[in-house]
Amino acid sequence: MESLLLWIIVLTVCSAIFLPYFVKFRRQQKADISRKHEAASLGADKPIAQYPLIDIVRCIGCATCVKACPEQEVLGIVFGKATVINGLKCIGHGKCAEVCPVGAIQVGLGDIKDRDDIPLMNEFNETVIPNLFIAGELGGFALIKNAIAQGTMVIDRIASQPERTTDPEIKDVIIVGAGPTGMSAALNAVKNKLSYLVLDQQGAGGTILQYPRKKIVLVQPVEIPLFGYLKKSEYSKEELLEIWLGLKEKYNLNIQVGEKVTNITQNDGYLTVESQDKLFKARNVVLALGRRGTPRKLGVPGENSAKVMYKLIDVESHQNEKILIVGGGDSAIEVAYGLAMQGTNKVTISYRKNQFFRLKKKNAERITQLIKSGQVKTIMESNIMEIQEDSVYLDVKGNKGKLSNDYVFIFAGGEPPFKLLRKMGIKFGAD
Ligand SMILES: Cc1cc2nc3c(=O)[nH]c(=O)nc-3n(C[C@H](O)[C@H](O)[C@H](O)COP(=O)(O)OP(=O)(O)OC[C@H]3O[C@@H](n4cnc5c(N)ncnc54)[C@H](O)[C@@H]3O)c2cc1C
Repeated sequence: MESLLLWIIVLTVCSAIFLPYFVKFRRQQKADISRKHEAASLGADKPIAQYPLIDIVRCIGCATCVKACPEQEVLGIVFGKATVINGLKCIGHGKCAEVCPVGAIQVGLGDIKDRDDIPLMNEFNETVIPNLFIAGELGGFALIKNAIAQGTMVIDRIASQPERTTDPEIKDVIIVGAGPTGMSAALNAVKNKLSYLVLDQQGAGGTILQYPRKKIVLVQPVEIPLFGYLKKSEYSKEELLEIWLGLKEKYNLNIQVGEKVTNITQNDGYLTVESQDKLFKARNVVLALGRRGTPRKLGVPGENSAKVMYKLIDVESHQNEKILIVGGGDSAIEVAYGLAMQGTNKVTISYRKNQFFRLKKKNAERITQLIKSGQVKTIMESNIMEIQEDSVYLDVKGNKGKLSNDYVFIFAGGEPPFKLLRKMGIKFGAD
């Protein structure tokens, strides 16, 4: 009798301790499974570039990775193991891998054999064409820290080759693209005394040039050749550009702008880089083109008029205007935020889906707040039909609507430069 009583006490105490944890665990798991289904139904479960690769055998399901992710919605715990819930939201911070106590996570591209958006490369980022390298976002890794690290790494590899070019017409390396990847590569080429040339269709700075004015850029610790570590974790667009352009001046970087590269061919002992009207020769080429390519057009009447834009550079030049923003990604929301915060603009977002689902956490919070306060209006499940001088026609769930309008900003993504890469002979995972 006494021992039965003892058992009852022990069981009651154990239940009191463990039951709340068990209930919490079950509730969290249910929520994560439902998030996974929702993400799958929206097509947001599959990553578009890097993502957390989880070793299920090692994972102990402690959820440290889930909590560490700055985007917060990428991972969840399902059946006691870390699981990718919203792969599309992974932008490669790598915090999950850093905090995992058992080393069960790596952030990478995983098995790329079915992917037609990831070029095949060896561990030094060399493509199937000898001496033709890819670095930065073009290879599938977003973020400035990855751009700098990869731009530096490929030049280290090229500098380790025993031969140097003796023909003044042939460079040791041509770098295509002057974003953070190309600029880091150029600085490392200077450091390693390589003969080099950078070609860019626009100007030095890459995608950073396209950020809205005063945008806050988050950067993680990484060493820029000939400069050292970036000291802060947040810079304004202007501060960051000042650093890059200061380095360009200081080292008199050999950058030719206005050169859009249209092909690369192999010759005996060198590669020929073709732009619209010139030919350049080098023993090695680094493609640092990024993934943004040319802005995708909607193909609707009126799209070519002067009131239609694909980027916002100066928010302050827009006052008292009726502005329509087309798109539901981070760029669209950041521009909507900037224009709405001016206080005098009437900002509307038209998005073809029924909810925003691929946003960074900060932008998701911003847009929720802006909608709540009435500073931004949204027209979900809508498509632009026609753009006129003072209005825009929309198809909203099959009904035609008209909006009074001064400016249209379109953020429908870009055509990535994969066609160009295939023309050069570069192979992709799915090829
Ligand atoms: C709105 C927005 C916000 C972002 N915020 C952050 C952030 O806060 N923190 C962060 O770390 N990252 C951020 N990123 C991502 C970051 O900007 C990119 O990962 C990074 O710029 C990639 O660098 P890259 O040099 O590989 O490519 P890019 O910066 O895209 O540079 C590519 C260069 O190649 C040139 N080029 C392309 N095709 C050709 C051609 N055929 N011939 C010649 N030149 C060519 C282009 O003109 C461009 O200058 C953000 C991106 C966007 C769009």
